[in-house]
Amino acid sequence: MSEKRVALVTGASRGIGAAIVGKLVATDHQVIGTATSQNGVEKIERDHPGHKGLVLDVMNEDSIQGFCDELNNLDLSPSILVNNAGITRDNIMLRMKPSEWNDVVIANLNSVFLLTRHFLKPLVKQKFGRIINITSIVAHSGNAGQANYAAAKAGVTGFTKSLAREVASRGITVNAVAPGFIDTDMTGKLTDTQKEGMLSQIPAGRMGEASEIAAAVGFLASDDASYITGETLHINGGMHML
Ligand code: NAP
Repeated sequence: MSEKRVALVTGASRGIGAAIVGKLVATDHQVIGTATSQNGVEKIERDHPGHKGLVLDVMNEDSIQGFCDELNNLDLSPSILVNNAGITRDNIMLRMKPSEWNDVVIANLNSVFLLTRHFLKPLVKQKFGRIINITSIVAHSGNAGQANYAAAKAGVTGFTKSLAREVASRGITVNAVAPGFIDTDMTGKLTDTQKEGMLSQIPAGRMGEASEIAAAVGFLASDDASYITGETLHINGGMHML
């Protein structure tokens, strides 16, 4: 029997990341999920016995280095990398502080560069890899109050396409999944008025479920998706059609 492929999912304690872990476990991968706290790590390991949870703060380069060293020590080398961890710090431009801009760019864009850089070399050597970046509908549509977040996610889209061109001949695909309005803690912060405004723009008439994003990630990670690269899968109930 062939060995299970190892998949790494950042931000796996809640929301979309937790659903992605569930999907990858169900499709017979060995999964490493990350959380920013020990509680989150324990939750991942409790939900998925036999799989690994580790602490990682993608905004802190020392934490990233420590995490990568720990994976090396455990002799775990992911062939599937899902860059899912992300944050929002919404504000209109007239009020946006440099710290709100920087935090969002560091968490959503710089982290993708740093983690991908670390894990790319082994993928090139083994001539197989799947890199899947979670972007957002707002990278394509824009969103008032989210100039920082939309810019960071659009940066990830450009990164995805460029890296896809660099490594396609090595059997590595690099794709993005762009969720619309998904029911998680991230959107739970919105006011009822904001939610109603969003819902009125969704032809499907409802928010998406984290599992509906995880299904697309599972597909892009699979052998069935071997000829898809540099692509963004938009999952938004028809909210934004390109
Ligand atoms: P969420 O419910 O807020 O969960 C965020 C996840 O990211 C948590 O697991 C959290 O870990 C982790 N995280 C936060 N800051 C981190 C840091 N500094 N280092 C490492 N991990 C960190 O968010 P979500 O809705 O599932 O979003 C997941 C991804 O989808 C994000 O990239 C988000 O931008 C994107 N997205 C979401 C939506 C949506 O409607 N929900 C739409 C478009 C795109 P802890 O539990 O340890 O805090």
